[in-house]
Amino acid sequence: MSVHKIALPQKILVGPGAIDHINNVCTDLKIHGKIIILTGPHVKGVAGEYVYKILSNSNMESELYVLNAKNPIYEIENISEKLKTSSNVDCIFGVGGGKIIDMAKLLSLKNGIPYISIPTAASHDGIASPMASIKLFNGKYKPSIMASPPLAVVADSNIIIKAPYKLLASGCGDIIAKFTAIRDWRLAKKRINEYYGEYAASLALMSANLIVKHAKNIRELKEESVRTVVEALISCGVAMCIAGSSRPCSGSEHLFSHALDIIAKKPALHGEQCGVGTIIMMYLHGGNWQRIKQTLSIIGAPTTAKELGIEENEVIEAIIKAKEIRKDRYTILHEKSLGWKEAENVASITGVIKG
Ligand SMILES: [Zn+2]
Repeated sequence: MSVHKIALPQKILVGPGAIDHINNVCTDLKIHGKIIILTGPHVKGVAGEYVYKILSNSNMESELYVLNAKNPIYEIENISEKLKTSSNVDCIFGVGGGKIIDMAKLLSLKNGIPYISIPTAASHDGIASPMASIKLFNGKYKPSIMASPPLAVVADSNIIIKAPYKLLASGCGDIIAKFTAIRDWRLAKKRINEYYGEYAASLALMSANLIVKHAKNIRELKEESVRTVVEALISCGVAMCIAGSSRPCSGSEHLFSHALDIIAKKPALHGEQCGVGTIIMMYLHGGNWQRIKQTLSIIGAPTTAKELGIEENEVIEAIIKAKEIRKDRYTILHEKSLGWKEAENVASITGVIKG
């Protein structure tokens, strides 16, 4: 058996007011140099400026960058150029939703500087994972770029609970996806002898089971359940750190979502698409897809093309094209021959399209 290396976040803070401890986190992690804070135009007033203020009050040097929502990758290139001539930058903070945290990962990767993840919404499991999904210069997404895990995760539930509910429901879809991701991973172990880690798989599955258990309370926005979603997302990120890949968290349902990102004129949120993908892929696996659909319905996450705001033809095309997205990722899609008719049938039986 070969040696398996695991890199994990050093500190994880979850709970109401967690953000107020950010200066102590820096002290504990021996961050004394300048900090680059990346935030978005919407979350600037929610958390970005607040983090800047806490650092200033603690006499810590920092610079706040508000990234353009459309194509922040250009700004990351510019900040990277600047960083080449400044040697005192110790850490990068990503304060915002998934896109901002992905940008922090990219900037960290380009410059070899660690980053801290400060999510303002619980919309997907990238908040604690080493993986980034980046929109390239040509507008296409490149999923699963391997960066490092965050040095720390600071998730303030007071901030996250105030984010639009749609984002939290999307996060639940990304967690539900682990049911089919693990089935695909086990299949890959069986068919092509791919590395499979029972611990990482169990951690991801535990998160998915918690979402099923708490579905009703999540819908009612009970504080404890919102915290469970945040912790489940972080656990999924940790599962990826343990596995050293996105395998425990991303299978055929994620390939379907990535395909939709390319095909659909107006793609929905990542987790929303993954949730619908899980219904379809669970059907292909011969599992209890009705339970997935019911859980998503209770949570108030989309279960149909219409609710995703995506055309039925685009859903069918995404089912067919999904396996071409990552040819190296063995999933249930490798074992099914899905032409237009078959894909339409699957989407129709599961009620994703009217058919
Ligand atoms: Zn995901």
